[in-house]
Amino acid sequence: MYSCLFLRILGAPWEADTRPNDVMIVTLTEGADPGLVRDALAGLGLWASPFEGRRGSVQLFVHSHSGDVNRERILSVAGVADISEPASRHPRVDVQAASVRFGEIELGGEAAPVLMAGPCSVESEERIHEVAERLAAIGVRFLRGGAYKPRTSPYDFQGVGTDALRWLREAADANDMLVVTEALSEASIDSVAEVADLIQIGSRNMHNGALLDAAGRTGRPVLVKRGMAATVEEWLSAGEYCLAGGAPAVVFCERGIRSFDDRTRNLLDLGSVALLRHVHQLPVIVDPSHGLGRRDLIPHLSRAAIAAGASGLLIEVHPEPERALSDGPQAVTFEEIDSLARDLRAEAPSAIFATG
Ligand code: PEP
Ligand code: MN
Repeated sequence: MYSCLFLRILGAPWEADTRPNDVMIVTLTEGADPGLVRDALAGLGLWASPFEGRRGSVQLFVHSHSGDVNRERILSVAGVADISEPASRHPRVDVQAASVRFGEIELGGEAAPVLMAGPCSVESEERIHEVAERLAAIGVRFLRGGAYKPRTSPYDFQGVGTDALRWLREAADANDMLVVTEALSEASIDSVAEVADLIQIGSRNMHNGALLDAAGRTGRPVLVKRGMAATVEEWLSAGEYCLAGGAPAVVFCERGIRSFDDRTRNLLDLGSVALLRHVHQLPVIVDPSHGLGRRDLIPHLSRAAIAAGASGLLIEVHPEPERALSDGPQAVTFEEIDSLARDLRAEAPSAIFATG
């Protein structure tokens, strides 16, 4: 029986041979005393703290307080059998469960894909009730809709605000749905957390550490959308912020990144979805609406996303897309999402968005 130590090596940035933010798993020889190994590692400038991981073994989370760290020296410690790279450089992201439970709904892992849909922005009380009713009838489990909108221009519609949060919750409750909605600022995080089952952090805020931390502190699961110019590493770090702040779980959402090609709104990076699902074993969903910005391609991208490993889809829907106050060109109609849900259900009969 081997046990593991989790190492986070935070070498001094000026030390050429150290790799800041590296995380390593140290496997102990059989019968080794983790306490003694810990002491020996402390002598190398590594500070270990207890850390619970899903590998089911004893793990320590170790920070370096000196830059003088290298692989050979760690291997020379009595009781250390091996060092390996974990799936993720981010210890908490790496050990968070591959799936997240919302009551009877499971998102991630082997669970069938979950459908989340609704308007880009919550526009009126009547509209959001109408949308919720129609979507619930086709098996959508999460109602989406922004009360606070991050717009490129300050003169564009910025969202209805707190009233919209209340309408969203009431519409979801009336139709037995869950709520996913965006928190745009620390000032509104508590009112968002009051209504949201899943707090959305948008692309523009993915680098906002204070907001990620505040979202984590609410104790709600957080949906971390990928920054439009963020590397996968930065995206995982954003999830790490939420978990370090106290979030019980993080769901990642690929929504397209900027590329050299402006023919479509964004470049939907399905490779990153396969990576998060199959290598890091993290719950990841795809937003095909913002992904390309084109309503007509949403069905195709949705299928591709699921094939790549997405555990869910976040789709913008509007009863009259041409009259939407934001993101109309990428919103599908009820008829379109109904037909998409039917096709997906036919392809994956156990899908959770089946109406049953
Ligand atoms: C949205 O979901 O409406 C939104 C603003 O998304 P993103 O942050 O991905 O642009
Ligand atoms: Mn939108």
